[in-house]
Amino acid sequence: ERKVPTPPKTRYLTISNQKGGVGKTTTTVNLAAALAKSGLNVLVIDIDPQGNASTALGIEHHSEVDSIYDVLINDLPLADVIATCPELPLLQVAPATIHLAGAEIELVSLVAREQRLQRALDDYARTRQREGLPRLDYVFIDCPPSLGLLTVNAFVAAREVLIPIQCEYYALEGLSQLLKNIEMIQKHLNSKLTVSTILLTMYDGRTNLAAQVANEVREHFPEQVLGAVIPRSVRISEAPSYQQTVITYDPSSTGALSYMEAAIEIAERAVRV
Ligand code: ADP
Ligand code: MG
Repeated sequence: ERKVPTPPKTRYLTISNQKGGVGKTTTTVNLAAALAKSGLNVLVIDIDPQGNASTALGIEHHSEVDSIYDVLINDLPLADVIATCPELPLLQVAPATIHLAGAEIELVSLVAREQRLQRALDDYARTRQREGLPRLDYVFIDCPPSLGLLTVNAFVAAREVLIPIQCEYYALEGLSQLLKNIEMIQKHLNSKLTVSTILLTMYDGRTNLAAQVANEVREHFPEQVLGAVIPRSVRISEAPSYQQTVITYDPSSTGALSYMEAAIEIAERAVRV
């Protein structure tokens, strides 16, 4: 196994794309699992009311569970809702519950509505330090497919945006809107935010279209696009039904290896951020 470098300070990445079904959640959980398996301390924040990341990581998230909803709305400390992934001891998860569906509306009238996740994360970092726990290396935030206040909270809490792009015909549609929104966040709420990483997902090497889309994205974003590409893989898509990531479910599959490769590439770029 390759040695994966530890970042000089905690890296906060938001996985975002306002299109649904492009692989945001799959990318979040598998990169997080790959880094945790490599010995790094990782936290996943699930802020999608669907709670798919919580499911894939084997974390309970029925409506009675204390969740990121309570952190954002009721000021519960993040430490009180975090659970450890049963498969990977270094992987921590703040689960989402269905209550989050109402949070978009409830946030509107709260003080510092855009900064609530950032404050919770800062507070959690201090708690870990106070308790002598190791510093987090990576925080991944899995966003819902919309640009409401939950996603705004993620953009404010993060330094980096990672955009998964599905290699198909409409892949670039909506991307310019996403980039405009990120610019707006940079201007008004978080000047440090950058699109650091683009990952090509669900790549089907048998089609010319996938190769064309990949080339086009690489031309537009030569700095950001990772060399690693995630293939379309049945193992990746079936892992969540076993409440696992493909990294633990089938570590030698091409899907697992490609996510591991992407994770290493992200970690090796850490010096640039
Ligand atoms: P999003 O979070 O953007 O809505 P998901 O990560 O949930 O997208 O992925 C959408 C669907 O595609 C899921 O059923 C997931 O299992 C499947 N999927 C994601 N990546 C792959 C892949 N590389 N190969 C096959 N299926 C995939
Ligand atoms: Mg999702």
